[in-house]
Amino acid sequence: MSQLPWHDSLQQALAQRRADGLYRQTRLRDGAQGVNVNVDGRDLISFCSNDYLGLANHPALVEAFKHAVNVEGVGSGAAHLLTGHSRFHQQLEEALAEFTGQQKVMLFATGYMANLAVIDGLLDRGDVVIQDKLNHASLLDGGRLSNATLIRYPHNDMAMLHKRLHGAANTQRKLIVSDGVFSMDGDVAPLPEIMALAKQHRAGVVIDDAHGMGVIGEQGKGTLQYFDDKLNDKPILVGTFGKAFGTAGAFIAADALVIETLTQQARSFIYTTAPPPAIAAATVKALEIIETEPERRLQLQARIQQFRDGANQLGLQLMDSFTAIQPVLIGDDKRALTVGQQLEQQGFLVGVIRPPTVPKNTARLRITLSANHSEAQVTQLLSALEQCHVH
Ligand SMILES: *Cc1c(COP(=O)(O)O)cnc(C)c1O
Repeated sequence: MSQLPWHDSLQQALAQRRADGLYRQTRLRDGAQGVNVNVDGRDLISFCSNDYLGLANHPALVEAFKHAVNVEGVGSGAAHLLTGHSRFHQQLEEALAEFTGQQKVMLFATGYMANLAVIDGLLDRGDVVIQDKLNHASLLDGGRLSNATLIRYPHNDMAMLHKRLHGAANTQRKLIVSDGVFSMDGDVAPLPEIMALAKQHRAGVVIDDAHGMGVIGEQGKGTLQYFDDKLNDKPILVGTFGKAFGTAGAFIAADALVIETLTQQARSFIYTTAPPPAIAAATVKALEIIETEPERRLQLQARIQQFRDGANQLGLQLMDSFTAIQPVLIGDDKRALTVGQQLEQQGFLVGVIRPPTVPKNTARLRITLSANHSEAQVTQLLSALEQCHVH
């Protein structure tokens, strides 16, 4: 029986969700991902994808993908530890180790799984994981899965992190975990301070740089490079391919012993099929473009600056972000939903982010910029926002 015995209470909960403006819906896209998308049958200008560098439909990635499919077929057929780890995966791991300056890299099918791995694979009952309150859901889930004691600190609050570390002084294994660039706010973790506190308290550090890799830092090496001259040590790094890289999947880059340990212990690595080799081949190409075409980052930075300047002139409530994520704070859930719908009527697609993804009363438009947006498109979005009377 696929209908559940508590069918009625599910129906009630969904109705409540609708009434509260919290209902979520899958949209249907036809054609390629990009700045111009066709969603639910309408042509729209998208300001909600994470394809920050415009690589998701880049001809060179498509070509690399096709070539790999011709060589190796589609499926990897097995987990990495069996026969799933292909030459293309190996090539990507080595290229990423070089790019990040870390000893070793291991691949995952998704960032979600990498984050489960990096916490669950390193900690056990009795250990402590200390997380920023605004960390991505997958990091929080990694903490829950691990049986380690989960402690949180207010967003980017280093005095409170210090206090938490003091509180856990008697625990031998402590792991501080933070987003590099926060996914719903666009701001950056104070990494030099986190690293200094970690050193002082003998804690490990994991940085999930899903939104920093490819985007910030002079060569697109993310949050670690952004703070390069203030760091003596490198944290364990998680990066994802579904955003600026334009493909799918994720990696962990770290000291060889950490990667070796995760290879033995991380269940979301061991008990799952390796991603298709063609994804790895396309990602190698994406990395090459990130390394050789800095103009994409400059173009993106120009659009970010243009948007911020224009939004400030309109009196919109922006957040403390210089990254591709430029949220506009609305507050009320239903109001945010209405503004999102009004923008869509004018031809613009933005993310409408509501609780529980963000704290209560902080519903927002999550506007993301891409190197492929034109100056004119950003100008058009700004005038559409003006017509919504958001401020
Ligand atoms: C998107 C995201 C993830 C998850 O990555 P997927 O590859 O999409 O599963 C993890 N962490 C952060 C901060 C993200 O934004």
